[in-house]
Amino acid sequence: MDKSSSAFDLVFAGAGCAGLSLLWHLGHADWAEWPNQHILLIDPAAKTQNDRTWCFWEAGAGPFEAIVHRQWSQLDFYGAHDSQLQALDIAPYAYKMIRGLDFYRHIGAWLATQPNVTLVQDEVLAISDNTETSVVVTRRGEYAGKLIFNSIPHLFEPLAKPQHIRLLQHFCGWFIRSQQPIFDPTRATLMDFRVPQSTDTRFVYTMPFDAQRALVEFTVFSRALLPHADYDAALQAYLTTHLGLADGTYAIEDTEFGVIPMTDAPFVRQPMPHVVNIGSAGGRTKASTGYTFQRIQHDSQHIAAQFAKPTAQSLAQSLREPMRARAMDGILLNVLDKQRYPGHRVFSDLFQRNPASLIFKFLDEQSSLSDDLRIMTTVNLPAFIKGAVGWGASVLRL
Ligand SMILES: Cc1cc2nc3c(=O)[nH]c(=O)nc-3n(C[C@H](O)[C@H](O)[C@H](O)COP(=O)(O)OP(=O)(O)OC[C@H]3O[C@@H](n4cnc5c(N)ncnc54)[C@H](O)[C@@H]3O)c2cc1C
Repeated sequence: MDKSSSAFDLVFAGAGCAGLSLLWHLGHADWAEWPNQHILLIDPAAKTQNDRTWCFWEAGAGPFEAIVHRQWSQLDFYGAHDSQLQALDIAPYAYKMIRGLDFYRHIGAWLATQPNVTLVQDEVLAISDNTETSVVVTRRGEYAGKLIFNSIPHLFEPLAKPQHIRLLQHFCGWFIRSQQPIFDPTRATLMDFRVPQSTDTRFVYTMPFDAQRALVEFTVFSRALLPHADYDAALQAYLTTHLGLADGTYAIEDTEFGVIPMTDAPFVRQPMPHVVNIGSAGGRTKASTGYTFQRIQHDSQHIAAQFAKPTAQSLAQSLREPMRARAMDGILLNVLDKQRYPGHRVFSDLFQRNPASLIFKFLDEQSSLSDDLRIMTTVNLPAFIKGAVGWGASVLRL
C-alpha cells in the first residue's frame, strides 16, 4: 500500500449528498476563514452516473433552484379503495426533483474554482482519533484532519438495540416513455395506494416529465426486501391498471432501485471528539418517511452557520435532535412496524383530513404544538396511543 500522510483542517469522508451539500454551504456561508481552510474530500465514486433522483417539497426558491429538473405545484393522492383522486393543496410549497448527476456536476463545477479543496478518489477503511486530530485511513493513504465530517454509514452504526424498529423503505422505479401522450406534466402523484396491500405499506408515485415520459416508482415499507420480480410485476400491473399502458405501448428507458433504512435507533452525531456524522450516517433520514435531501440541506446550513458565527454552544450540542420530533417519528414508525393500523389508512387519514401543506410542515418539524394536536385528532387515536406506549416503552428500556 502506498501510504501518504497529510494534514487538513477539514476532511470529508464520503462526498455524496451530505458531504457535497455541507461543503457547498460552508463555502457560501459568511465564513471569513473559508479560503484559508485546507479541505480534503475522499470518495471512491467518480460521481459521473445519475445514481439517484431526489424529490422534496420546498416553499420558494432554494439554494439549488438552478438544477431543479422538474417541479410540480399540483400533487394528487389516492387512498387504497378510492377511485377518485384527491388534489392536494400544497401551496406555498412546490414538489421538486433534482437529479443526482446534475447535483454532482453543479457542486463539482464550483469546487473546481476552490483552490483550498482537494479531491481524492479512494476508499476510507477506518477513522481513529488522537488528542489534536483524527486520522482517516484509506486504501492508499492516511490523512490527518482537525475535524472529520463522515457520511459513510457503516463506519459508525446507530446504537440499535433489540427493541428498536428497523423498517426498510425499498423502491423500484421505471423511467418510461409511452407511445401516446398520457401524462399531465403539471401534476404528479405523491402516493397512490390502489396497489394490492399486504401486511406492509405499499404505494406508487408518478412524476411526469412531459406528456409521454414519467418516473413511476413502486415503494414498500417493510422489514425485508421483496424478490426482484415482485417489484417489476407490481409496476407492470400498475401501468396496465391505472395508467392504461398495455405491454408494448411504452418503453422503459432507465430504472432506479433503492433501499432507505427507517429506524428509531439513536444516531451518534459525534462518535469521536474530532468526528461529526452527517447525512444518513448522522440520522438525517426522516425515520417515518425516508425523506432526507432537505434535512441534509437544513443540517448543512445549520453547521455552516456555527462556523460563520462562533457561539458559546459547541457543534455537538447544537446538533441535538428535538425530542418532540423524535417522539412523533418513533410513534408513527411504531404504528407502521407493529401494524397497529394499516399503513395506507395512516397516510390516507393524514393527507385526506388535513391540508397537505400542514402535513409537509409537520414532517419538516416546523409545526407548532397546536398544529400537532390538530393532526392527532385526524388519526386513528387508539392505534397511535398504542404506538406512543410502544415507543415510550422502547425509550425507557434504553
Ligand atoms: C435511489 C435513492 C433515491 C432516493 N430518493 C430520495 C428522495 O427522492 N428524496 C429524499 O429526500 N431522499 C431520497 N433518498 C435518500 C437520501 O436523500 C439519499 O440516500 C442521500 O444520497 C443521502 O445522502 P448521504 O450523503 O448521507 O449518502 P450518499 O449520498 O449515499 O453519500 C455517501 C457517499 O459515501 C461514499 N462512500 C461509501 N463508502 C465509502 C468509503 N468506504 N470511503 C469513502 N467514501 C465512501 C459513497 O460513494 C457516497 O458518495 C434516496 C436514496 C436512494 C438510495
